[in-house]
Amino acid sequence: MFTDKVVIVTGGSRGIGKAIALRFGSLGAKVAVNYLSNAAAAEEVVEAIRSQGGEALAIRADVGDPAEASALIEQVLETWGRVDCLVNNAGITRDTLLLRMTEEAWSSVINTNLTSVYNCTKAVLRPMFKQRSGVIINIASVVGIIGNAGQANYAAAKAGIIAFTKSIAREAAARNIRVNAVAPGFIESDMTAKLPPEVVAQYQNNIPLGRLGSPDDVAKAVTFLASEDASYITGQTLVVDGGLVMY
Ligand code: NAP
Repeated sequence: MFTDKVVIVTGGSRGIGKAIALRFGSLGAKVAVNYLSNAAAAEEVVEAIRSQGGEALAIRADVGDPAEASALIEQVLETWGRVDCLVNNAGITRDTLLLRMTEEAWSSVINTNLTSVYNCTKAVLRPMFKQRSGVIINIASVVGIIGNAGQANYAAAKAGIIAFTKSIAREAAARNIRVNAVAPGFIESDMTAKLPPEVVAQYQNNIPLGRLGSPDDVAKAVTFLASEDASYITGQTLVVDGGLVMY
């Protein structure tokens, strides 16, 4: 499905990003697996793709830093000569109620979750414009739609991603570039493993499909949006949450 396509997954070393990278790899893409600090985890993803006969590369970059984000895109262009798909997935949480939220907790979440999307998208758009093709998929969250107590920083970043997605979809459409977002609900990963069991149980009770999501549930939506099957879809936010939020 993605033979000879070049895909970059930010935060591809663990959780949802790992599932996205592995799925693209299994569908024939050449995959750049970006990570911040866990080189061993990123190399494992690369090895898993290579062991199935695919091509992959682990690249360390703090995507919240404009120079490092540019260098990430540059390294992929030097290696494979093009970028067909960018998945802006890297993200962090620093949950706390607003009155206790430090400026550092605010700005680190905005920087890693939202400014990173600006950094990587800006760096990848020029080569995509030249190619006159490309797909960008931004991982948002349902809390960017409905908000969440204790996550004002994270929800603001994710809402920002949704509006950014619509804006760049409008800017890039004439060059045959599609830009969409995926908004996961509750997905089992290191990020949600930190939550107390009673909070997890409460989520589970409120999910109409009756189970927590898996990283693969999100990866399937991402490869759909990246594929030709979605060639008439741009500027959208696809919610993948088992029915938790219906809006
Ligand atoms: P995770 O398991 O904590 O993994 C986070 C990934 O992001 C890791 O690969 C990490 O790299 C990378 N990363 C963090 N900061 C980075 C930076 N500055 N530069 C580059 N990479 C960085 O998280 P997850 O649950 O898979 O979440 C992935 C995305 O889905 C995030 O955007 C998150 O907000 C979103 N999401 C998750 C859920 C959920 O329920 N889990 C729900 C909605 C949305 P290292 O391995 O090097 O640390």
